[in-house]
Amino acid sequence: MIELREVSRIFHVGGQEVRAMDRISLIIRPGEYVSIMGPSGSGKSTLLNILGLLDTPDQGHYLLEGQDVTSLSDGQLAEVRSRKIGFIFQFFHLIPRLSAQQNIELPLLLAGVARKQRTERSLPLLEAFGLADRRHHRPDELSGGQRQRVAIARAVINKPAVLLADEPTGNLDRHSSGEIIDLLEELNRGGLTLVIVTHDPDIGERAHRRIRVVDGTIASDSFR
Ligand code: ADP
Ligand code: MG
Repeated sequence: MIELREVSRIFHVGGQEVRAMDRISLIIRPGEYVSIMGPSGSGKSTLLNILGLLDTPDQGHYLLEGQDVTSLSDGQLAEVRSRKIGFIFQFFHLIPRLSAQQNIELPLLLAGVARKQRTERSLPLLEAFGLADRRHHRPDELSGGQRQRVAIARAVINKPAVLLADEPTGNLDRHSSGEIIDLLEELNRGGLTLVIVTHDPDIGERAHRRIRVVDGTIASDSFR
C-alpha cells in the first residue's frame, strides 16, 4: 500500500516559490488501477516521481508498504525502488547501445544476478510481450510500441509491487497506444498496482480510479 500524508514538494525558480505538490494526502491500495490527469504543469510528474522514489518530499510523509520512506538515504531509496517500483516514461529511457534483451535484463545485471538466471527471467517476458524475434535489436531498430514494451518488461522483471507510468503513450500512434494500454491492463489484472499519468481522456477513463490534479492539489478522486 502507498500512503502520502500531507506531502508538499516546493521548487524555487527565479526567486519564486512553486508548490508542485501542496499538502497532498493519498492512499493507493494493492492492485488498484489509477489514472492521474490534469493540466500541463499541475504537478502530475512531480507526484509520480515522489511515489516512485525518484524525488523526495519537502514536507509530509510517505509510507510504502508500511515503511516510512520519507527520510531514507539515496542508497536506501535506490534499494527500495529496485525491489518495489517499476517506472516507465514517455520517451522510454532505454540504453541505446544495448539490445532489447540486455535492456530488459539490466536491473538483474545491476543486482548481480548471473547470466543464466537473467536469461531464464527475460526470455519468458520477451515471449509474452511479443518481442522474442526482436531480442537482439537495439532500441533504434525498434518501433515506438516495441520500445515501450521493452521498457515495460525492464520495469517489471524484478516483480515490483507497483508500476508507475508517466505519459506512457504520449509518443505513440493510436494503434501502438492501444497495445501498450492493453499490456499494462493485463499486468494490472495479474495483481500489479498500476498508476498512469495521461493526457488522453480515453485512456484516463479506462482506469478504475481517476484522480485529477490541479495546481499541486487533488481536485477530484473518483472510483468506478
Ligand atoms: P505536469 O507533469 O503536471 O506537467 P510537473 O510535475 O512537471 O507538472 O510540474 C509541476 C510544477 O513544478 C510546474 O510549475 C513545473 O514548472 C515545476 N517543476 C517541476 N519540476 C521542477 C524542477 N526540477 N525545478 C523547478 N520547477 C519544477
Ligand atoms: Mg509531466
